[in-house]
Amino acid sequence: MRMNEFDIIRTYFKQQPSAKHVKLGIGDDCALMKVSSDAHLAVSTDMLLADRHFFRDVDPFLLGYKTIAVNLSDLAAMGATPLGVVLSAGLPQQCLSHEWLDPFVRGLFSCLEQYQCPLVGGDTCGSEQWVFNVTVMGEVPNDVDFQRSSAKVGDHIWVSGCLGGAGYALQQLFSQKAGRVYDVIGLEKLRDRLEKPEPRLPLAYLLRPYVHSAIDVSDGLFQDLGHVLTASHVGADIDLSCIPYEHYFDIEGSCVMLPQRLEGVWEGVVSDLLAIGDDIEDVQKAERRLKNALFSATSGEDYELCFTASPEDDQNILDVSNQLGFPVTCIGRVTQSSGLSVSYQGRTMSMPTQGLGFDHFGEK
Ligand code: ADP
Ligand code: MG
Repeated sequence: MRMNEFDIIRTYFKQQPSAKHVKLGIGDDCALMKVSSDAHLAVSTDMLLADRHFFRDVDPFLLGYKTIAVNLSDLAAMGATPLGVVLSAGLPQQCLSHEWLDPFVRGLFSCLEQYQCPLVGGDTCGSEQWVFNVTVMGEVPNDVDFQRSSAKVGDHIWVSGCLGGAGYALQQLFSQKAGRVYDVIGLEKLRDRLEKPEPRLPLAYLLRPYVHSAIDVSDGLFQDLGHVLTASHVGADIDLSCIPYEHYFDIEGSCVMLPQRLEGVWEGVVSDLLAIGDDIEDVQKAERRLKNALFSATSGEDYELCFTASPEDDQNILDVSNQLGFPVTCIGRVTQSSGLSVSYQGRTMSMPTQGLGFDHFGEK
């Protein structure tokens, strides 16, 4: 049987017993190691490979920015404050020019400065492959706990910002590169969501007192939320009409297309959630909204935060959102029964959490 990324990690890498100073090992956004009596060191590493994570002709400034941003995103998902990063770079011939290296490094430092994090080391090597591997380190005070395993029954589930933009831009870029028709305006509008993601560090910092559990949405909301549900031994009810997708998807001219892997799920959504018999225009509108929501909850690379918190803190969370002028949306709640249940206007169906999002060993 073909193993996915998570099977490989669980079967081969996650086999050692943990050590006393390790509060949290493999399986979360960062590992946590005790370094003093009042804080833990949060560590995470992420690799960016050409043709898998970026196109070779991407703007090197943006590639540098993203290389740091996606790593800082894992610190945000732990409620950590950045301490430093190290960067290991495998550089092929095409990168060994001032024209390429200078903007790449300006992009790196631009993100590092934006989030006040120093580059403290790394390694540089000539290579056939383009490889950028960043390890980030941050600090988490003892009273902050964003672990995937800490979601509680009754918690509200929240998502920051808007979803789907990065996935939409990626679809358009693939079409452009294949010489197919694509949405020129949509790509222009949403390209930054793919190529210049922002780690939600300021939001995570202000949410520290309220968050029970968090994950950054890199592989699709449903799949990433699935990791939280599994780790916490709980389930979730999600209202599809609340999924905060890009406003652009409601505009005439946008053309959200579900990838092949969602065909089966989409059939279920149409048969279980769509009310046939209503006014035909209403049905078409509902169908479009459902498609936009499903696309946005399963496409990757948005790097928004999904977190759970007690309903008692709803107002505190909305106050943080107002303070930052940045939206957060309540999309559902944590339930006792396992699995993910989605609803739309009073109708409900169960939704798988695996196989919907991005898997590095699966199909594109
Ligand atoms: P994220 O999406 O937050 O970057 P991943 O899905 O890549 O996290 O990884 C899941 C967990 O498995 C993380 O805790 C990560 O540190 C761990 N992990 C991934 N690959 C390896 C490996 N080769 N050795 C040890 N741990 C790994
Ligand atoms: Mg993560």
